[in-house]
Amino acid sequence: MRLHEYEALDIFEQNRIPVPRRGVAETVDDAIRIAGEIGYPVVLKAQVLVGGRGLAGGIKSVSNPDELEEAAESLFSSEIKGLSVRKILVCEKVDIAKELYMGITIDGYSGQPVILVSTEGGVLIEETAKTSPEKIAAIHIDPSFGYYPYQARTLLRRLGLQQQLITTWSDIIGQLYNISVRYEALIAEINPLVVMPNGGLIAVDAVLEIDDSALSRIRLPLPDRIERIENPLERRGREIGVTYVDLDGDIGLISSGAGLGMASMDIIGQKMRPANFLETGGGITADLLYKCMELVMMKPDLKAIFINVYGGINPIHEGAKGVVRYIKEHNVKIPIVAKALGNRQEETWEIFRSGGVHVVTEAATEKAIEKLYEILSGQRG
Ligand code: GDP
Ligand code: MN
Repeated sequence: MRLHEYEALDIFEQNRIPVPRRGVAETVDDAIRIAGEIGYPVVLKAQVLVGGRGLAGGIKSVSNPDELEEAAESLFSSEIKGLSVRKILVCEKVDIAKELYMGITIDGYSGQPVILVSTEGGVLIEETAKTSPEKIAAIHIDPSFGYYPYQARTLLRRLGLQQQLITTWSDIIGQLYNISVRYEALIAEINPLVVMPNGGLIAVDAVLEIDDSALSRIRLPLPDRIERIENPLERRGREIGVTYVDLDGDIGLISSGAGLGMASMDIIGQKMRPANFLETGGGITADLLYKCMELVMMKPDLKAIFINVYGGINPIHEGAKGVVRYIKEHNVKIPIVAKALGNRQEETWEIFRSGGVHVVTEAATEKAIEKLYEILSGQRG
């Protein structure tokens, strides 16, 4: 789970990492009040969970209330990489002498924490890794020994930094390391870590992503996890208890298992484009499949739906009743193709057919998707 910048900054501050004065605004009036308390100039930062906000227009610097009003209105009514802006962080504008980078993540090979630092901050670290790898230094931490400050000092010396900066920066590395351990972070990152004209350091941005598997162990004063899902369809999927991933195609997909769903998605992708991935898991009921239909149909410009369900622990005949009830109540006109095999398959086929669903009785998913493709091609021709 990735935290918002303002949430991560609060945690950084509690752990004695220097951060700017700031407040969170939900309205333009809030923003004006907060900026008045901080003093101009301030930086307005859209609180959306994507990287590269700056380049996407999510960060604006303003020097008086008129400018602020205009900038805040435009941020609240805009979308940053497809996400609407519900909150704006109003920050004191920090003077920048130099931007540095530091991040702590888990090395995928060793499974151990790795601390990365770079003298090139404020830009994408992936780019620096490609163009000037000598500007990035890394240390791997053995968690059974933990972190020692000399490790950070050695690391920073390797980058050729001044002693004063090495001392202050290695303190911050230690603090960020403690945060990453306490919050079981997959990523804890400060980009940029700013060197101010007086030589002091301050974290201007904050990224903290917590391992989902650790969430039950960590006490976070944050809203419910469902509310944090930005995509409304994915949020709805979580609410009804299915796994839903929104994609940008136009063929809806409902499957009863992850493997079946991924195979369907890949085969659809050969000639068409899946609109989503949806997997019900083992709890199919008529009501659940009714809700799945409702969810998939929320997608604008959907051309067809492919249903791929297996009757093992799932009562697929019950599921079919829910699909057909939805079709009849909402007078669905787009083609729906279903492959349903397993326990009570014949009964399931009859129910599907009663709702006008094209039933494919062959076992191969390729055949069923080919049928869907033919139906759509026929409609166009
Ligand atoms: P990101 O694009 O989502 O990573 O957003 P950041 O918070 O990292 O800001 C992007 C860039 O905006 C930074 O690298 C800075 O160059 C600039 N910026 C952000 N906050 C400030 C600030 O307080 N003062 C100044 N001068 N620049 C800032
Ligand atoms: Mn940043």
